Formats: sequence, C-alpha cells, structure tokens
Amino acid sequence: MAHSLDSATRQALQDRVRFYRDLGLTEFYRRPVNPELLAQLTAEPDEPQPEPEPQTFQLEEPTIPLRKPFPVVPAIAPAVPAAERAAAMQLIREELGECTRCALHKGRNKLVFGDGSPTARLMFVGEGPGADEDSQGLPFVGKAGQLLNNMIAAMGLKREEVYIANVVKCRPPNNRVPEPEEGATCSPFLFRQIDVVRPEVLVALGATAATWLLGTRQPLAGLRGRVHAMRGTRLIVTYHPAYLLRDPRQKKEAWADLQIAMKELGLKLPAKS
Ligand code: URA
Repeated sequence: MAHSLDSATRQALQDRVRFYRDLGLTEFYRRPVNPELLAQLTAEPDEPQPEPEPQTFQLEEPTIPLRKPFPVVPAIAPAVPAAERAAAMQLIREELGECTRCALHKGRNKLVFGDGSPTARLMFVGEGPGADEDSQGLPFVGKAGQLLNNMIAAMGLKREEVYIANVVKCRPPNNRVPEPEEGATCSPFLFRQIDVVRPEVLVALGATAATWLLGTRQPLAGLRGRVHAMRGTRLIVTYHPAYLLRDPRQKKEAWADLQIAMKELGLKLPAKS
C-alpha cells in the first residue's frame, strides 16, 4: 500500500533529516517492512478488517550498505608564487569550463567556482551552492552567506581577504547533500584551489566539507574543537552557517571554533568580557 505524506509532515521530516545531516549524521537504515503487517497497521479505520492470521515472521538484520571508499586525493601540487596565484586559479576555472562531468550540471544556472583572494591566509569550504549562489555564480551570497560574512567580520577580517569555495560547484537539487560520485568528481578541483591558495588555515563549514577534506565520515562533534593537519595546512571544523541559522544556540560553539582559527593565524582575540 503506497502512502503519501502531507506537505507539513514531509517538510518536518526534511527539516529533521537536514538537522541530522548538519550534525554529520548522514546515513539512515530502515528495517525491512513486512507488507502484510504494514497494511494491517495502516488500514483506514472504516475498512473491513480481515481477521489476522496467526503468523510468524523473522526480522532480518538491516543490510548496511558498504561504504564507498573516498577517491584517492590528488598529490599536493607544488607551491605557486603569490604573484601567479590569480592566473593559476584562472587556469583551473578554464579547465572546469562548462563542466558536464557529473549530473549536477543538468540543474545548474551558474557554476560557482569560488570567491576571494587567491593569496588568502584563511580559506572557507562549504558544501555546495544554494539557490542564491546558483543564480549569482558566487559562493555564500544568500542568508547563510550573510552569516558567514558576519563570522568573517567578527574575526577582524574582510570577505575579500579570505577565499571561499565549496565541495561541489553546481547546486544539488533541493539543496540535498552531494552524492559520493558528485563529490568525487568535483573535489579534485577544490583540492587544486586549496593548493593554489595554500591557506595557513582552512575552515570546513559543516559535515560535508569536513568529510571531503579529511577523507573520513565522522560526526561533527568528534571533529570540532581541535586542529587537524590537512594538505600541508591546518584545518578547523565548525558548523555550517545554514545550520547556525536553524539553531542559533550553536553560534557560541562556532565562535569558539573560529577563535581556534584566529589563534592559529596569530589574529588578536577579542578581550574576554
Ligand atoms: N551553502 C554552501 O555550502 N555553500 C554555498 O555557497 C552556499 C550555501
């Protein structure tokens, strides 16, 4: 028996799944459903109820799909002199071209390559463009982007001084998490951008960025609050700004993460009040 959810329930479910996703919980398993039992449980009350046959059935263990291995991360490219970084970045952009390497290109308006200074000391990596980014061709220009701008300003920096990019460069439909194939296809370009910028500190915004940058899928809680070594640079993991918009109570935690980044960069921390 097929059941469709009403739109409020569907929205509530989507919000809940997105909330779990922001916490780094991205895989859910469902036990196999006994169709006869489901039919009995979900039958309309005024439908005649058949006498239930005494029955036994075995609950199988849920099948846990094998995790796809992350692709081999490209070797770290030689350092590019600061004066040549803008041109090196342009070369990567040209190589991407009007990319059709994965299915995400089909729903794209504009490819979102990256934004900011190619000689930045600090680089932020998000998940993938949303609707505003897709229409403007720039990362983090919507509501989450406004919050990111505030976070950057709170660190005493200007947006133009940092570099911002995403794991995938085209908007996933309905802002879903990029599929493994999509991340695997697009992330080598991100790694090349990181190699050009050679930031002293990278900040992964949310679980998807952390997963692809560290090559390991772990809940965010276990990754935050410390400095990771990554591609010859230091990586800090924090919450995605979109998650902070949904749960502003976590802003204090994110600020603590950003202060780790500031310390690593030798930036002056605000006086404790
Ligand atoms: N969310 C992201 O992860 N990246 C963007 O560019 C915008 C929103």
